[in-house]
Amino acid sequence: MQGITGKTALITGASSGIGQAIALRLAQEGANVVINYRSDPEGAESTQAKIHEIYQATPANGAKVMTYMVDVSDYDQVSKMFDHLEETFGLVDIVINNAGVQIESPSHETDVGAFQKVLNINLNGPYFCSTRAIRHWLDRQAPGVIINVSSVHELIPRPQYLSYAVSKGGLNNLTKTLALEYAKHGIRVNSIGPGATQTPINTWHDEADEMEELAKHIPMGRVGTPAEMAASVAFLVSDEASYITGQTLFIDGGLTLYPSFESPWT
Ligand code: NAD
Repeated sequence: MQGITGKTALITGASSGIGQAIALRLAQEGANVVINYRSDPEGAESTQAKIHEIYQATPANGAKVMTYMVDVSDYDQVSKMFDHLEETFGLVDIVINNAGVQIESPSHETDVGAFQKVLNINLNGPYFCSTRAIRHWLDRQAPGVIINVSSVHELIPRPQYLSYAVSKGGLNNLTKTLALEYAKHGIRVNSIGPGATQTPINTWHDEADEMEELAKHIPMGRVGTPAEMAASVAFLVSDEASYITGQTLFIDGGLTLYPSFESPWT
């Protein structure tokens, strides 16, 4: 992909799953990579080790990788991280808001603290990182790219996961509003909307039976892989997507196509 080599990319929640796959893919494209994590140092170190291997295979690149422990739902921590990254790299060109959690509970029984926790991580986190990054780009009169890792549930309601669905619905408008507000500054903001993807966030991720059952609901008949999500992110941050902003690219095997309409009902 054009325009990624030599850039610096911050990926939140990159110690596992989709975030880890994005970190590896952007390293393959020649970016400096900042692996943000909150509570999984082993996962962050494993991502870092894999990236060192990628860089060693392309030694002329000279790219750097670092890990950074920050809770994205804490604005002070996020802001200090940016201060430090500015000192280290000068410019942080790409921000991937990937960190996310989900909590299952009937909506009328949801604990208020649990509801707020999901919104704090899934929605406030991207708001903090995006606005801090935008200030950084405006100060330097530099362009920048933000990708929010949303979900098919920014569109599809999700009973028993109210806070998750609300957070991803909010992320949709965060993406569009920031895209519109800062397009004139050369700042692009897009989302990806993964469908069911095999990662630790899902309890079925290591249960073959459950996965087979789940796959029956997906038009393409299978769940997605983190690498498939990362490939779309690489495209969206690259210069190949230079005229795309404010969009969500759903990567879902057809899950957002109203699968129950596949056959006539009568
Ligand atoms: P995951 O659990 O492997 O990844 C989530 C990451 O976020 C973890 O590394 C976790 O440590 C990190 N994180 C959690 N709270 C944090 C905090 N406060 N600060 C910093 N990091 C924090 O699961 P995943 O599936 O890779 O999830 C990544 C993103 O993809 C999430 O936003 C999720 O909503 C989205 N998504 C996943 C699926 C799926 O089926 N796996 C589908 C749609 C969307």
